[in-house]
Amino acid sequence: MRFENSLAFAKELDEKDPLKKFRALFYFPLMDEKDVIYFTGNSLGLQPRQTQDYILRELEDWATYGVEGHFHSHIPWYHYKEYLSDSVAKLVGAKKEEVVVMNSLTVNLHLLLVSFYRPAGARFKIICEYDAFPSDLYAVQSQASVHGYNPDDAVIYLKPRNGEYCLRTEDVIKAIEDAGDSLATVMLGAVNFFTSAAHKVGATCGFNLAHAAGNVTMKLHDWNADYACFCSYKYLNAGPGSVSGIFVHEKHFGKHLPQFAGWWGNDPETRFKMPRTFEPVKAASAWALSNDPVLSMASLKSSLDIFDAAGMENLRSKSEMLTGYLEYIIKSINTKIEGRKLNLEIITPSDASQRGCQLSIIAHGLGKDLYNKLTEAGVLCDWREPNVMRAAPVPLYNSFEDVYRFGVILENILLK
Ligand SMILES: *Cc1c(COP(=O)(O)O)cnc(C)c1O
Repeated sequence: MRFENSLAFAKELDEKDPLKKFRALFYFPLMDEKDVIYFTGNSLGLQPRQTQDYILRELEDWATYGVEGHFHSHIPWYHYKEYLSDSVAKLVGAKKEEVVVMNSLTVNLHLLLVSFYRPAGARFKIICEYDAFPSDLYAVQSQASVHGYNPDDAVIYLKPRNGEYCLRTEDVIKAIEDAGDSLATVMLGAVNFFTSAAHKVGATCGFNLAHAAGNVTMKLHDWNADYACFCSYKYLNAGPGSVSGIFVHEKHFGKHLPQFAGWWGNDPETRFKMPRTFEPVKAASAWALSNDPVLSMASLKSSLDIFDAAGMENLRSKSEMLTGYLEYIIKSINTKIEGRKLNLEIITPSDASQRGCQLSIIAHGLGKDLYNKLTEAGVLCDWREPNVMRAAPVPLYNSFEDVYRFGVILENILLK
């Protein structure tokens, strides 16, 4: 598609956008009584306007029924998470039984590693990214410690090549092959096709999909991933600290993998008979420990209903265009600031199939001052020290006009 850097062109794209009506379903933070340009859905998604109603409904049912709400609420709390599984399964490309919503993200990563990081004898290593989110680093390091290993020996950190910003697939596969029999599990941030390489050396392969869920289309079942977890407050718009989700491939069901167990992972048929020994249900929900945090799940349900209405494939098509437009705008600003000692370098892959909606941009010659000025001008994006700006136009609620206006503001700051 040939883009143009003009308001008329951006408005025309919005007019033709089959998903344009979804923007009105969200609250935008205001600055000087105007909507901000919100490019931080990668950190905290916006609140759907209907979420209050979903939560209020549960509060009303609680007021009306008390404990009886477990079975008589409009969505019986006893089965609440099952009402989320279809939508979640569609988002990650899984069977309904392979997903469950529970706990928060880092907790879930630990619970999964308890089952899928099973060091024994010479096989005790974990592969993860050197630049992984700190919580993920602490999780893998502490798992190694709990099993009696020194994390410095047990964790293999993967770094991009010198001068590069992203790991190359071939380098990940080589690291897996080099680790060979010593490798117990691979835990990476981005979904990719490393699963077969990991399985070939006898290791398990899992993913932290915090930045992928609700952002890119996935086929976790077909890709033969062993395990995965994701949060719901970034692209899934379920609100701060809201409930997380996991995926466990069905091939692991009924195998009595070592796990931490709780009553909500017990077969629901016998759960309330209170058996003295754990009878895990043959589903990912075997990993659930506690009864459902219904208020948090109601918030997630509100957002998932919107995802179901929009369709992840449609969102992804728009997303590729929206982020492509942002890339085009950044590049066109670059040609205007040529000759000055500044430059915007996009370090996210340029191949749309290798990235989600977010672009990470190094602002050469500029510091946090740029971020502060953007914020003052009504743009919310992410800043990583020393000079990386992350902008995530989200297809559910961002428009091509947002991208155009962002470009105008950025250009004005840079040309000053
Ligand atoms: C957002 C994020 C987290 C946050 O973990 P919480 O347990 O939800 O606080 C962890 N890991 C990754 C990769 C993330 O993107």
